[in-house]
Amino acid sequence: MHIEQRKQTPYVFYGQTTSLCEECMGLVPAKILIEGDNVFYQKRCERHGVQKTKISSDTGYFKWCKDFQKPGDRPLTYQTRTEHGCPLDCGLCPDHEQHSCLALIEINEECNLECPVCFAESSPMRKKNLDLKTIERMMDALVKSEGEPDILQISGGEPTIHPQFMEIMKLAKKKPIRHLMVNTNGVKIASDKEFVKQLATLKPGFEVYLQFDSLEKEALINLRGVDLRTVRKKALENLEEANISTTLVVTVKKGVNDHEMGAIIDHALGYKCVRGVTFQPVQDAGRNEGFDKNTDRCLLTDIRRAIYEQSDVFKAEDIIPLPCNPETISIAYGIRDGRKVTPVTSLIPQHDLIAAVPNAVSFEKNKELKQRVIDLFSLSSGDLNTAERMESLLCCLPEIPVLKNMSYDNIFRVTIVQFMDRYNFCLANIKRSCIHFVTPHGQIIPFENYNMFYRNGLVEQMRGRLKKAG
Ligand code: SF4
Ligand code: SF4
Repeated sequence: MHIEQRKQTPYVFYGQTTSLCEECMGLVPAKILIEGDNVFYQKRCERHGVQKTKISSDTGYFKWCKDFQKPGDRPLTYQTRTEHGCPLDCGLCPDHEQHSCLALIEINEECNLECPVCFAESSPMRKKNLDLKTIERMMDALVKSEGEPDILQISGGEPTIHPQFMEIMKLAKKKPIRHLMVNTNGVKIASDKEFVKQLATLKPGFEVYLQFDSLEKEALINLRGVDLRTVRKKALENLEEANISTTLVVTVKKGVNDHEMGAIIDHALGYKCVRGVTFQPVQDAGRNEGFDKNTDRCLLTDIRRAIYEQSDVFKAEDIIPLPCNPETISIAYGIRDGRKVTPVTSLIPQHDLIAAVPNAVSFEKNKELKQRVIDLFSLSSGDLNTAERMESLLCCLPEIPVLKNMSYDNIFRVTIVQFMDRYNFCLANIKRSCIHFVTPHGQIIPFENYNMFYRNGLVEQMRGRLKKAG
């Protein structure tokens, strides 16, 4: 008689979350499955069936992230009530677990480019500019929520072409905001030296967040629609001359520019004004021409691997999960001397570093060091702030006497920010989101939810469906 044998699953069922159906954007249950080195969400939508999507290509790192979760910092006020749950109550509603480490205010919709990849769907045809009064209301809403906001990023559209751009920046400088940034494609910075001089008057506590996706023509045409190599070069030269702190921001698309992580880090180190590079996989939201889930998605773990394989500046163990929201942000800090970068993690004895991980059981041994590591590896940034936090961490390590009087010029930071989209959305992680948009109505909305549900009005349809059903 044939006796059938039970079979093992070809995966480990690691847990469960709530994600999104990739067809209808409805909330659906998602099993978290581990298969070797890869982690998948297996989602089940009543209407669209089962969907299986890779969310990590490094199981060890995926599990490591859990050890980095720390207690969240709550904002001072909430703008909405918790009624129907995410993403319908943004926000912030009292159910949110993290304050705004970084807030964005979009001052216009117009842009001097029309990139094939643009979550804001900006273009030269969209002429809307917010007036100064509305923008001040938005800043005040952020200050009310945060007290002293860590970072405000002025964004758009292309913010530098707003007719009152400098007035807006000066207004922000009058508010109790620790660090002010402008999020720009660099076109105006490349072509207008007088404008760069005006930007320099915003120092200290000011930084340019410069779009910088590639050093190659083909990749720039794929992502931005035009060959911007000369614009990028000129913009960086002008920022270097004015010594304006700059972060290079790289949107990463698989097969387009994911081979350039090392080259871009190396390029960044050629400029004294560059404080770091931020890599962001394409978020599938807004305008994202011809995006194919199967060929174009790049994961945080793919970028992390590419960084340590393509560059010898940071090793794998230097690029660690950000305690505020470990699964979506990784960060590496280095101390810079010209082109030479010493990863801060390499200065901390390995056992102390492990002890400093927020959830490590042995942290009691060195509570002070633990707190200072967490403080440094949090998203708050800024001229004095980051340098002071770095110095305060290093003071915990008496065997390193040379690193006193750090300034922001000595910092070099590599960050990977993976904004969630229909593929990797996780209800738990959205509650930990610490990068938020401030709306003209004074709401504060997590970056991902704003781009997927609020900007396009989808949230209204979802609320309407809920009302009909209930
Ligand atoms: S994402 Fe945050 S603010 Fe938005 S509904 Fe969920 S808990 Fe509330
Ligand atoms: S991605 Fe930036 S530069 Fe490109 S169209 Fe959008 S706002 Fe303009």
